[in-house]
Amino acid sequence: MADARSSNGKSILVIGGGVAGLTTAIEAAEAGCQVILVEKSPFLGGRAVSFSLYFPKLCPPTCGFEINFRRIKNNPRITVLTQAELTSLTGAAGDYEATVKVAPRFVSEACTLCGDCAKACPVERPDDFNFGESKTKAAYLPHNMTYPAAYVIDRSVCPAGCKACVEACPYGAIDLNQGAQQKTFHVAAVVVATGWAPYDASKISNLGFGRFPNVVTNVMLERMAAVNGPTGGKILRPSDGKEPASIAFVQCAGSRDENHLPYCSSVCCSASLKHSTYIRSLYPDAQVTIFYIDVRTPGLLEDFRAKVATNGHLKLVKGKVGKIGEDPQTHDLWVTVEDVLAGRKTTQRFSLVVLATGMVPQTEGLPQGLPRDEFGFVTDGAPGFIGAGCVKRPEDVASSVRDATGAALKALQSAVRSAHHG
Ligand SMILES: Cc1cc2nc3c(=O)[nH]c(=O)nc-3n(C[C@H](O)[C@H](O)[C@H](O)COP(=O)(O)OP(=O)(O)OC[C@H]3O[C@@H](n4cnc5c(N)ncnc54)[C@H](O)[C@@H]3O)c2cc1C
Repeated sequence: MADARSSNGKSILVIGGGVAGLTTAIEAAEAGCQVILVEKSPFLGGRAVSFSLYFPKLCPPTCGFEINFRRIKNNPRITVLTQAELTSLTGAAGDYEATVKVAPRFVSEACTLCGDCAKACPVERPDDFNFGESKTKAAYLPHNMTYPAAYVIDRSVCPAGCKACVEACPYGAIDLNQGAQQKTFHVAAVVVATGWAPYDASKISNLGFGRFPNVVTNVMLERMAAVNGPTGGKILRPSDGKEPASIAFVQCAGSRDENHLPYCSSVCCSASLKHSTYIRSLYPDAQVTIFYIDVRTPGLLEDFRAKVATNGHLKLVKGKVGKIGEDPQTHDLWVTVEDVLAGRKTTQRFSLVVLATGMVPQTEGLPQGLPRDEFGFVTDGAPGFIGAGCVKRPEDVASSVRDATGAALKALQSAVRSAHHG
């Protein structure tokens, strides 16, 4: 059983390795605390590593993440467990026993990212990082910024008896017999930083997602715009692979709606404004229309809105979209909206529609009894549990980082307190 004590107290457990969990882990470890960082996917970074660029600076995610990955790599106080999930938590604040199940990666640290395993691999699987819009081999690198930097084998799709990747690997880094591991830790506090998932757009039946190929979501658009994405950085119509001439963004798709998500996800307006800059740089003459209820760009993001809105090809129309239909011949979309300022209902034709769907807290697999608000977001209040980032409320990266830094301080206090008490 691991019980690595810090110089100033017990360890802390951080669940979720997105920008919030990474921040808490790094800040707490750099202050002298032992940290166990548990991430369920094969890589750290969470949703933000999948973005093409970040608002408001419009820089690529490599900017911040490279530095953070280096800080983690150089800090012996952080134990990183990927493909890992908490399976049980017993005890009380200051003295928890946490059991974590770590699924096998089948590839060791000897991996040099040469890619020979993927070249030799005979089978493909849908690439969940690209929302199934492309495929990877069963031996795959989730994305080009993957940390820990090693390939992964998806054994669920491997043909029986196949050893092609093992034979192709020049470094002996692949062991297909690896099994799952169970690890137990004593920790003083648990930081929950499990983030968000996009709202399921197929539930918004009037907006046509899943029925009309050229209706996509904001997170899918992020992947299209990314150079390492399914279309190599080009925003293309899924129906025919053509460049779109006119694009509509539907704000609050399912948000601020009692039938779906009653709350505002706070970042979707800034995200769509950012997306309009992607389109502008790819296709300077394309017409972009953002249909909104209110443009919510709080604080410093007002400057970002003002800067982006100067683009002559961008139209902002106040009105909630009621319906999307499709021309079955061309797969163009008909968008019907009540134009509030013009005082009339209009139906306009677009070649691509992007639904700005909101954020849903990810709380699956978390300990029972964790306090939540009426929408499922984790709230503070249970001793020994500290929330950080978007699992607490929808917010941007800068706010998640600030929140997670505060969470690190609270976790450190628990660790120090527990050391004084035993
Ligand atoms: C379309 C869109 C575009 C955006 N663009 C921007 C932008 O340009 N700039 C900006 O500042 N913000 C942007 N945001 C907001 C940004 O995505 C969030 O601020 C950020 O992802 C919050 O990080 P997080 O760590 O809280 O959550 P996440 O990024 O969701 O990370 C959570 C991590 O926890 C892991 N996890 C989940 N459950 C478990 C579990 N049970 N056990 C272990 N691990 C688990 C997940 O795999 C994930 O790695 C955008 C949001 C949207 C919707």
